[in-house]
Amino acid sequence: MKSKGLLVVLSGPSGVGKGTVRQALFETDTNHDQFYYSVSATTRQPRPGEEDGKDYFFVSRDQFEGMIEDERLLEYAEYVGNYYGTPLQYVEEMTEQGKDVFLEIEVQGALQVKRRMPDGVFIFLAPPTMHELESRIVNRGTDAPEVIEKRMRQAREELQLVTQYDYVVENDNVQSAVERIQTIINAEHLKTDRFIDDIVENYLKEGDEIS
Ligand code: 5GP
Repeated sequence: MKSKGLLVVLSGPSGVGKGTVRQALFETDTNHDQFYYSVSATTRQPRPGEEDGKDYFFVSRDQFEGMIEDERLLEYAEYVGNYYGTPLQYVEEMTEQGKDVFLEIEVQGALQVKRRMPDGVFIFLAPPTMHELESRIVNRGTDAPEVIEKRMRQAREELQLVTQYDYVVENDNVQSAVERIQTIINAEHLKTDRFIDDIVENYLKEGDEIS
């Protein structure tokens, strides 16, 4: 039996380690043929070492607004002065092919995805403490003090929306977080709803009905 690909939304405050956890998770896909990362578009400037097309599609405000107008984004949000958004076509194509597509996005965007694609899997990655979150952002060394303050305020607002998610995974340790996410993904693939199309198409005869 074939289960449909999952849309996995990995969300949570900036600095919580979404990228690190996602990369470690992807390393468990040893054949590189099940997990796919949706690269977002953003108007933020690249950080040192970031690559266009790999970390983000770095675009101008005009280009981004063009994408909104043409309805080419699954969701978008303005976050600390910049736009961030998920290109729709990639998500649709990969999930159609049975692949699991991962979005790493902030909470407002995650809630938009939930409204549009409620059968997605919504995971909130939480920091062990707020103090730990602040240390991680400070140690990253890429943000000015006022930006750090904004990110911390934003983080508290994001935590207030945690009940909108299906799962909470604490990122106390990358390996444990990865194992918990694997458990979630394995269980989600076994949900009845994900098999219905396959059962109707390949197991039943015309006139049979699923009740
Ligand atoms: P950063 O500037 O640190 O790369 O990202 C800032 C925040 O925007 C992070 O929480 C990140 O996960 C989120 N983000 C990245 N891409 C997207 C996206 O496509 N949509 C939304 N809504 N948030 C995003």
